[in-house]
Amino acid sequence: MNRARQAHAERVFLGLGTNMGDRLRHLRRGLFALVTHPEIQVRAVSRVYETEYVGPGSQDPYYNACVEIATTLAPCVLLAVLKGTEEREGRVPSSHLQPRPIDLDILLFGDRILNGERLQVPHKGMRDRAFVLEPLAELAGAEKFPDSGETIGTACAKIRRKSGPWVRPLAAAGLLPKRNDGPIAENSNKEDWRAAMAVHCR
Ligand code: AMP
Repeated sequence: MNRARQAHAERVFLGLGTNMGDRLRHLRRGLFALVTHPEIQVRAVSRVYETEYVGPGSQDPYYNACVEIATTLAPCVLLAVLKGTEEREGRVPSSHLQPRPIDLDILLFGDRILNGERLQVPHKGMRDRAFVLEPLAELAGAEKFPDSGETIGTACAKIRRKSGPWVRPLAAAGLLPKRNDGPIAENSNKEDWRAAMAVHCR
């Protein structure tokens, strides 16, 4: 994204999650799809958290992370980009609440409040989910929910006081590939990532 476009870009926070197969690889491939999109600039990436499945029935634990991006895409277009990425990575569109290779959600889109049929922002349910708030608080602890005015940090602290599902940061794994990892996607290598991502990865 060139400088002129950056001036019109909005600050957006996304949630990434997966509980199938090589979870770190799925997260990295999801991130790589963001990094290589011409209208998306990845600004920051949280640590990866392993998190207890939340929902009906039982499922394997997830890996979750959050990403801050700047984008000139309209919210509904960004949603289509995310859903397209999910499908390319092997997610069946009807797999709501099922194990999935990658789930990409819009958490916050600038200070917009959207209540459309296909898109609600802030993301519904994010306030009650430690697996969203913990990684998001790393990037945006002082950011306020546009509707309630509560900060992400405060919402996260409230969740911590409840004894809800477990959430723990991975000690070693970050989303940037390590030297000995294989290629994440076709034609990608670590230098591609470094060049494409003006981010401070933990
Ligand atoms: P999920 O199975 O959790 O990925 O949810 C699937 C559907 O949630 C999508 O097809 C979207 O239309 C809808 N949705 C509503 N709000 C959002 C949001 N903020 N981010 C992502 N998906 C959303």
